[in-house]
Amino acid sequence: MAVVHTDLPPIPVYTHCLALICALIVTALMLFLPASPEAITRPLDPAQYRAPRLLPLPLQREPRELSEPTIRHPDESPWQSVTVNPGDSLSVIFARLGLRADDLYRLLSDSEEFSALSHLLPGQAVKVRADARGRLLELIHEYDQIRGIRLLREGNSFSLSRYTRDTEKRVGFAVGAIDSSFYRTASTVGLPDPLIIRMAEIFGWDIDFALDIRAGDSFVVLYEENFIDADKIGDGEIIAAEFVNRGEVHRAVRYQRPDGVAEYLTPDGRPMRRRFLRAPVDFRRISSHFQPERLHPVLGVKRPHRGVDYAAPVGTPVQASGDGSVVSVGWKGGYGNTVVLRHGSRFTTLYGHLSRFRQGLAPGDRVRQGDIIGYVGQTGLATGPHLHYEFRIDGVHQDPVKVDLPGPEPLAPGLLADFREQTDQWVQRLDQHRRLALAEPRLSESD
Ligand SMILES: [Zn+2]
Repeated sequence: MAVVHTDLPPIPVYTHCLALICALIVTALMLFLPASPEAITRPLDPAQYRAPRLLPLPLQREPRELSEPTIRHPDESPWQSVTVNPGDSLSVIFARLGLRADDLYRLLSDSEEFSALSHLLPGQAVKVRADARGRLLELIHEYDQIRGIRLLREGNSFSLSRYTRDTEKRVGFAVGAIDSSFYRTASTVGLPDPLIIRMAEIFGWDIDFALDIRAGDSFVVLYEENFIDADKIGDGEIIAAEFVNRGEVHRAVRYQRPDGVAEYLTPDGRPMRRRFLRAPVDFRRISSHFQPERLHPVLGVKRPHRGVDYAAPVGTPVQASGDGSVVSVGWKGGYGNTVVLRHGSRFTTLYGHLSRFRQGLAPGDRVRQGDIIGYVGQTGLATGPHLHYEFRIDGVHQDPVKVDLPGPEPLAPGLLADFREQTDQWVQRLDQHRRLALAEPRLSESD
């Protein structure tokens, strides 16, 4: 039995489809190009964008059959496809498809490699083509949407090859005007969950997504979508995004440096990443706001409340807002279970009312921004579960939402030309979407 390893396109019958696919693409372009502004996107120059090539096709879903090897010679039987169920073996699948047991025996005995490679997992697809007498002509075992193996009958044995399908990247976008929460609006306009969280990470240094979001805020996101043929198989990175918060425009573009490291920068080349996160808890929570004076709910006396309260369920992870070291871990009067961190010589942060600490956390430990240091609780003088967060500069309380935090280092001048070349087109795209949103402000709302 011949065993061939190849990265060539998986299924030669695709070549028969080329003319058809080309015709369909032309038809699709003619049909859908005028349908939406997004369809007039230009082909992307790979030199300008190091990620795999992006195609300008509109996001029109073709029938699933297009990606299947459906075109065949007249004397061949049709492809049959099964999804592997828990407990399925190849013999179960052969029986289900009415294939001959001697072919199964031949497959398994001819090739140890096939047995090893073709370990069936639930959810995977097995596709076969047989002749009228139930003799196996071809079998494809799809490991996932990209990789698999193919067996082709050659006389009385089978040749085996591995394949990897080409994926294409296209540009998806979402535009939203926030009326309630960012999360709800982004979901409503179809932004997938991982990208919603990514948005909050990208802008999380400038915007406190737990407290700052207001009705009237808006966003535009351009992101990669991964396709095989006409089928979307997942989302890639956010390419560029804009978030307008309380009238202030924040923008970020993804830049891949020549060394391959990618980061988000403002269009003028300043990193989005800062020394401190705006909010040390997940943004999908609610809270009251910073108040210099208020009646303390437990003591019943008016006293300054110098911090930010994030009402969140007990057990919600609390993150270090910046790199630093642990000053103290333990009970601290009305604060209850409290962690205090030091960040360089001037800054400290405090996290109070915790239900518990990260296991093993001790004074002197180094922490990185985003590390979980404890969990929300209501220990000490707290009327309900919340995180009490304080930010101090030279020992003086500051409102972390308002304080002017240390600015980031801009991009090295030597990289600026490369940065512009890679990102200018995406900034222009953001401009286009902004103009469209202004022209029709209710464009993205669900009602
Ligand atoms: Zn508080």
